[in-house]
Amino acid sequence: MQKGAVPVEGARFLDYHDGSLLYMRKIDERESAMQSTDGPCVAHRADYHATLHEEATRLGCEIQLGCEVQDVNFDQASVILNDGSVIAGDVVVAADGLWSTLRDKILGQLSPPLPTGDLAYRMTLPADALSTIADQNVQELLRPNLSTVWLGPDRHCVLYPIRNRSQWNLVLIPDNLPDNVRTQAATMEEMKQCFEGWDPRLQKLMATGDAVMSWKLLHCEELKTWSKGRCVLIGDACHPSLPYQAQGAAMALEDGITLGTLLGSLNESQHPAVCGADRRAQCILELLLVFESVRKPRTSLNQKGSQSNQYWYQASTPEDMERRNKVFRSADGWGKCEWKGADFEYQRELLGYDARKHALETYEGWEKQARAVDCNL
Ligand SMILES: Cc1cc2nc3c(=O)[nH]c(=O)nc-3n(C[C@H](O)[C@H](O)[C@H](O)COP(=O)(O)OP(=O)(O)OC[C@H]3O[C@@H](n4cnc5c(N)ncnc54)[C@H](O)[C@@H]3O)c2cc1C
Repeated sequence: MQKGAVPVEGARFLDYHDGSLLYMRKIDERESAMQSTDGPCVAHRADYHATLHEEATRLGCEIQLGCEVQDVNFDQASVILNDGSVIAGDVVVAADGLWSTLRDKILGQLSPPLPTGDLAYRMTLPADALSTIADQNVQELLRPNLSTVWLGPDRHCVLYPIRNRSQWNLVLIPDNLPDNVRTQAATMEEMKQCFEGWDPRLQKLMATGDAVMSWKLLHCEELKTWSKGRCVLIGDACHPSLPYQAQGAAMALEDGITLGTLLGSLNESQHPAVCGADRRAQCILELLLVFESVRKPRTSLNQKGSQSNQYWYQASTPEDMERRNKVFRSADGWGKCEWKGADFEYQRELLGYDARKHALETYEGWEKQARAVDCNL
C-alpha cells in the first residue's frame, strides 16, 4: 500500500464517557507471531482505489467507466450493458458490491441486503484545523499514529489518520437512518446529539467538521451459491459484513487474489488434462466452485466476527457494558479472550492468512486430481 497510507502503531479502545483506556492493541511481536506480513496501515478509500487502479493499469487491464451492467448471459460468459452493448470473456466476475445486480440473477431471486440496526456517520477532518484546538489533551490524543475507538452504550466511534496524516477519518456509529435510504448528507447537529455526553475530546474533534455523510450498514446471510455458469460473485456482492473488524475490503482483495491465482494457474498450465480447448470451459466451471469452497469459510469467519463485535462495541445494558469493560481491561492479546479482538488464535487466523499461498496449494491439489481423472479415461 502506498499513496498516503499511514502505518499505525496499534489501536486503543477507550471508555466513551471519560476516555479512560479499556484496551491497547500494540503492533509488536504479536504481529510476527501471527505471521502477518506487514503491520496494518490505514488509508483513504480514494487513495486505496488509486493504488489498485495503478496496478491494474500496469498489468494491462483496460478500464471502461460509466458502463452499467444490466444483465448477464451465464453460458456465454457475457454481460449486457445499459447501452445494449455486449462484452464477452472467459469468466464474468461480478464485483458489484452490496447492492449487486448480478447476485439476484445468480441466485434466481431477489436478495436485498438486510438491515443490521446500525448506520455510520463519516467525516474527514483536516489536520490543520485539528492542530488549532487549544486543548493539550486533544493534541496528545492526535500525536501517535494510533487508531482510537470509543466504546459506548449502543454506539461506538473510530478515529484514525489518513493521507500522510494530513487528514483524520472520524466514523461514528449509531442507528437512525430511515428505511430504503443507503446514504444521505447528514446534519452536524443530529450527529452531535447522538454523541452528547461523550469524551469532551471527541466533542472538540467533531466541532471542527463542517460536513458529514451517513451510510446505512447492511449485510447478507451466507449465500447458497456464489456462481452460475461462468459468472462468479466476489467481495461485498457475496459476503458484505458490518465494518467492525475493518476487513471487508481486505476480504474482497483476498477474493481477487484467490480467483486470480486459480484461473491464472489454469491459464499457465501446459498439461493436456486441463489446457485443451475442449476442457477449458469445464475447468473454469470447476475452479469457480473450488474458489467458493476456499473463500466461504473465511469470509463467514469475518462476517461472524464483525457481528460479534457489534455486541462488544455497542453493549446496550449497564450489565453488558460492565462485562465488556472488564473483559477489555483484563485482556493482553496473547491468550484466549471472549472478545475475539484480543484472542490471539482468532487474530492469527484472521490476519496471518496468506491468500496466494493457499490458492496455489489448492490449485496444485485440483490439477493433480484432474490429471488422475484424465489418466483413467
Ligand atoms: C462505514 C464503512 C466503513 C468501512 N470500513 C472498512 C475498513 O476500515 N476496512 C475494510 O477492509 N473495509 C471497510 N468497509 C467495507 C468495504 O468498504 C467493503 O467491504 C468494500 O468496499 C467491498 O468492495 P467491493 O469491491 O466488493 O464493493 P464496492 O466497494 O461496493 O464496489 C462495487 C462497485 O461496483 C459498482 N457497481 C454496482 N453495480 C454495478 C453495475 N450494475 N454495473 C457496473 N458497476 C456496478 C459500484 O458503483 C462500485 O464501484 C467499510 C464499509 C463501510 C460502509
